[in-house]
Amino acid sequence: MAIERTFSIIKPDATRRNLTGAINAKIEGAGLRIVAQKRVKWGKAEAEAFYGVHKERPFFKDLVTFMMSGPIVVQVLEGENAVAKYREVMGATNPANAAPGTIRKEFAESIEANSVHGSDSPENAAIEIGQVFKPDEIVG
Ligand code: ATP
Ligand code: MG
Repeated sequence: MAIERTFSIIKPDATRRNLTGAINAKIEGAGLRIVAQKRVKWGKAEAEAFYGVHKERPFFKDLVTFMMSGPIVVQVLEGENAVAKYREVMGATNPANAAPGTIRKEFAESIEANSVHGSDSPENAAIEIGQVFKPDEIVG
């Protein structure tokens, strides 16, 4: 299995509740390495651009407002099979359906305020990483 990179966001509901370290303990505990990291606050343009694939969905406007509502921590994670592995560690989008031990089961507040984002394919991971990090900000 090849070493992959994926893009992660710790969302505003989680930074608000001081859960950055608890979430990263689960990420590192699963064998993923945090090879880039910054804490930022997104404006409308950044949030809309990032979730642009969902712009026709009924929840888009609320999602953008939520993603701008507080600081977020953007990260690049590296490891074997990182995209699928991190999706597994995150759990299902709706915490009500998330498996025990997953980040969303333990920490998410709702289907919207679900604590973390993770890329859904290696192709999207490369796009998302490129939107947020310069190559020299990633140190493996
Ligand atoms: P993410 O892309 O954030 O990793 P995901 O891939 O599990 O999550 P998507 O379907 O891509 O889920 O939805 C993107 C985000 O939009 C979700 O994480 C959640 O914050 C929000 N969202 C998804 N579905 C709903 C919904 N039905 N109502 C409100 N918010 C939603
Ligand atoms: Mg998604």
